Amino acid sequence: MDFEYHCWRCWETNVIWGKKVASFWHDKYRLPPDFECWNCGAINDLTDD
Ligand SMILES: [Zn+2]
Repeated sequence: MDFEYHCWRCWETNVIWGKKVASFWHDKYRLPPDFECWNCGAINDLTDD
């Protein structure tokens, strides 16, 4: 499943693929801990949500 995040630096939209994780109760998606913005190269942290 694709997730959209806005870069903290340039506010460009980055589409991040979340891998589906098997779960009995509901669907979960595992995202990488961070991603590099395709536009400006800034590292965006995804771990604190
Ligand atoms: Zn950016």
